Amino acid sequence: MTRKFVVGGNWKMNGDQGQAKQIIETLKSAQLDPNVEVVIGVPAIHLFLAKELAAGKLGIAAQNCWKVAKGAFTGEISPAMLKDAGIEWVILGHSERRTIFKESDELVAEKVSHALDEGLKVIACIGETLEEREAGKTEEVVFRQTKALVAAIGSRWSQVVLAYEPVWAIGTGKTASPQQAQDVHASLRNWLSSNASPDVAESVRIQYGGSVTATNAKELAACPDIDGFLVGGASLKPEFVDIVNANL
Ligand code: PGA
Repeated sequence: MTRKFVVGGNWKMNGDQGQAKQIIETLKSAQLDPNVEVVIGVPAIHLFLAKELAAGKLGIAAQNCWKVAKGAFTGEISPAMLKDAGIEWVILGHSERRTIFKESDELVAEKVSHALDEGLKVIACIGETLEEREAGKTEEVVFRQTKALVAAIGSRWSQVVLAYEPVWAIGTGKTASPQQAQDVHASLRNWLSSNASPDVAESVRIQYGGSVTATNAKELAACPDIDGFLVGGASLKPEFVDIVNANL
């Protein structure tokens, strides 16, 4: 089965309207590999602007959402609201949400489940900290995080992209080596084969994220179990185009 390469840009809490416009215009005028799906995760306040400017040429993702449709949840946005605004994707479980905002595996799973109920596509993030890697717990952690997702996703894997993002590689300039990333992706796929289904293991796209740049993207993209990237810092720069085109 061929898995379509998918590259996400995670702008995090960066960019004013002018910068948002500039980045989207750069992407629209670039020659992007037609075999790559591109999704940009923009701050909530720029979702409408991004949607309008992208004009169907780029997928647009929210960076978070809440776990129910509406109600007394000051400051939150629901999947139903995203759908109503024409937004198709949401990034959930990013390590910054897990660490800074104390989102547990259970909460992330509830959010994923409800976002899927509402018909959104989800980029679900997992990944170990440096301490966990050094303690030899990488697999234990990513399997635990993915286990919560498996229960939440059920049969809806076609709406999901997994993003393996080792926390120690995010925003640090320390990328996982292609071998380190490939090893985790392969063991995740293996785990999914027994804990979801062989079909899910074969078909789900697993992105790598953590200090991806134009320089290291090609080597990472060549790994058989890496099906795309989730890119933070470099997604704000023109080099994002080269990352999208890593397979060319
Ligand atoms: P980075 O961020 O590319 O800046 O390391 C990746 C992410 O947080 O998704």
